[in-house]
Amino acid sequence: MSDELKPCPFCGETPEIPECHGTCYEFDCDCGMSGSSIQISDLMTIEERLACPNLCRENDFKYPDKYIKRAEKEAITAWNHRADQTAEMQAAIVELRDMLGEARNGLEWYRDEYPQDTSEADNQMLEQIDQAITKTAKWSV
Ligand SMILES: [Zn+2]
Repeated sequence: MSDELKPCPFCGETPEIPECHGTCYEFDCDCGMSGSSIQISDLMTIEERLACPNLCRENDFKYPDKYIKRAEKEAITAWNHRADQTAEMQAAIVELRDMLGEARNGLEWYRDEYPQDTSEADNQMLEQIDQAITKTAKWSV
Protein backbone atom coordinates (compact mmCIF):
# COMPACT_ATOMS: atom_id res chain seq x y z
CA MET A 1 0.00 0.00 0.00
CA SER A 2 1.41 3.40 -0.98
CA ASP A 3 -0.15 5.04 2.08
CA GLU A 4 2.31 3.37 4.39
CA LEU A 5 5.04 5.27 6.15
CA LYS A 6 8.65 4.32 5.81
CA PRO A 7 10.54 3.97 9.10
CA CYS A 8 12.09 7.09 10.61
CA PRO A 9 15.65 7.35 9.28
CA PHE A 10 16.88 8.57 12.65
CA CYS A 11 15.47 5.95 15.04
CA GLY A 12 13.95 3.22 12.87
CA GLU A 13 10.48 3.54 14.39
CA THR A 14 7.41 4.12 12.23
CA PRO A 15 5.06 6.78 13.59
CA GLU A 16 1.31 6.21 13.73
CA ILE A 17 -0.74 7.96 11.07
CA PRO A 18 -3.08 10.01 13.25
CA GLU A 19 -6.66 11.15 12.79
CA CYS A 20 -6.77 14.74 11.67
CA HIS A 21 -8.30 17.39 13.91
CA GLY A 22 -8.12 21.00 12.94
CA THR A 23 -6.72 22.64 9.86
CA CYS A 24 -3.37 20.94 9.61
CA TYR A 25 -2.49 17.35 8.93
CA GLU A 26 0.63 16.42 10.84
CA PHE A 27 2.52 13.71 12.59
CA ASP A 28 5.88 13.49 14.31
CA CYS A 29 8.19 10.70 15.19
CA ASP A 30 8.57 10.16 18.95
CA CYS A 31 12.32 10.66 18.61
CA GLY A 32 11.63 14.30 17.65
CA MET A 33 14.02 14.21 14.69
CA SER A 34 11.47 13.95 11.91
CA GLY A 35 7.87 14.79 11.14
CA SER A 36 5.54 15.89 8.41
CA SER A 37 3.00 18.69 8.38
CA ILE A 38 0.59 19.89 5.69
CA GLN A 39 -1.93 22.74 5.94
CA ILE A 40 -5.09 21.29 4.49
CA SER A 41 -6.06 24.61 2.89
CA ASP A 42 -2.68 24.91 1.14
CA LEU A 43 -3.69 22.10 -1.19
CA MET A 44 -7.16 23.52 -1.91
CA THR A 45 -8.03 25.51 -4.99
CA ILE A 46 -10.01 28.75 -4.71
CA GLU A 47 -13.07 26.87 -5.95
CA GLU A 48 -12.67 24.19 -3.29
CA ARG A 49 -12.34 26.84 -0.58
CA LEU A 50 -15.43 28.66 -1.81
CA ALA A 51 -17.30 25.35 -1.62
CA CYS A 52 -16.62 25.28 2.16
CA PRO A 53 -18.73 28.27 3.20
CA ASN A 54 -18.26 27.73 6.94
CA LEU A 55 -14.48 27.60 6.67
CA CYS A 56 -13.89 30.80 8.65
CA ARG A 57 -17.16 31.02 10.58
CA GLU A 58 -17.30 27.90 12.68
CA ASN A 59 -14.83 27.30 15.47
CA ASP A 60 -15.10 23.55 15.22
CA PHE A 61 -15.03 23.52 11.45
CA LYS A 62 -13.88 20.23 10.02
CA TYR A 63 -12.75 19.93 6.43
CA PRO A 64 -14.57 17.48 4.20
CA ASP A 65 -12.93 14.07 4.34
CA LYS A 66 -11.62 14.21 0.77
CA TYR A 67 -9.46 17.24 1.63
CA ILE A 68 -8.20 15.66 4.84
CA LYS A 69 -7.38 12.49 2.90
CA ARG A 70 -5.50 14.50 0.28
CA ALA A 71 -3.44 16.29 2.95
CA GLU A 72 -2.75 12.96 4.64
CA LYS A 73 -1.49 11.50 1.35
CA GLU A 74 0.70 14.57 0.80
CA ALA A 75 2.13 14.41 4.33
CA ILE A 76 2.92 10.71 3.87
CA THR A 77 4.57 11.36 0.50
CA ALA A 78 6.68 14.16 2.02
CA TRP A 79 7.68 11.94 4.97
CA ASN A 80 8.65 9.03 2.72
CA HIS A 81 10.58 11.31 0.36
CA ARG A 82 12.55 12.71 3.28
CA ALA A 83 13.17 9.22 4.68
CA ASP A 84 14.62 8.17 1.30
CA GLN A 85 16.76 11.29 1.02
CA THR A 86 18.05 10.96 4.57
CA ALA A 87 18.91 7.29 4.09
CA GLU A 88 20.80 8.20 0.90
CA MET A 89 22.68 10.94 2.73
CA GLN A 90 23.55 8.62 5.60
CA ALA A 91 24.92 6.06 3.15
CA ALA A 92 27.05 8.76 1.51
CA ILE A 93 28.35 9.88 4.90
CA VAL A 94 29.32 6.32 5.82
CA GLU A 95 31.14 6.06 2.48
CA LEU A 96 32.94 9.37 3.13
CA ARG A 97 33.93 8.23 6.60
CA ASP A 98 35.42 5.04 5.15
CA MET A 99 37.35 7.06 2.55
CA LEU A 100 38.66 9.39 5.26
CA GLY A 101 39.72 6.34 7.26
CA GLU A 102 41.65 5.01 4.26
CA ALA A 103 43.35 8.38 3.76
CA ARG A 104 44.22 8.41 7.44
CA ASN A 105 45.71 4.92 7.30
CA GLY A 106 47.78 5.85 4.24
CA LEU A 107 49.11 8.97 5.88
CA GLU A 108 49.93 7.13 9.12
CA TRP A 109 51.68 4.39 7.19
CA TYR A 110 53.76 7.02 5.38
CA ARG A 111 54.60 8.75 8.64
CA ASP A 112 55.75 5.48 10.23
CA GLU A 113 57.62 4.33 7.15
CA TYR A 114 59.39 7.64 6.38
CA PRO A 115 59.61 9.57 9.67
CA GLN A 116 62.43 11.71 8.29
CA ASP A 117 60.14 12.98 5.51
CA THR A 118 57.18 13.69 7.79
CA SER A 119 56.44 17.31 8.63
CA GLU A 120 54.20 19.12 11.08
CA ALA A 121 51.83 19.66 8.14
CA ASP A 122 51.29 15.90 7.95
CA ASN A 123 50.36 15.79 11.63
CA GLN A 124 47.95 18.69 11.14
CA MET A 125 46.38 16.86 8.22
CA LEU A 126 45.92 13.76 10.37
CA GLU A 127 44.25 15.91 13.01
CA GLN A 128 41.90 17.40 10.42
CA ILE A 129 41.01 13.97 9.12
CA ASP A 130 40.26 12.84 12.68
CA GLN A 131 38.01 15.86 13.20
CA ALA A 132 36.19 15.14 9.94
CA ILE A 133 35.69 11.49 10.93
CA THR A 134 34.32 12.60 14.31
CA LYS A 135 31.86 14.93 12.56
CA THR A 136 30.51 12.14 10.39
CA ALA A 137 29.70 10.06 13.47
CA LYS A 138 26.63 11.99 14.52
CA TRP A 139 25.07 11.84 11.03
CA SER A 140 25.49 8.17 10.34
CA VAL A 141 23.10 5.84 12.11
ZN1 LIG B 1 12.37 8.78 14.80
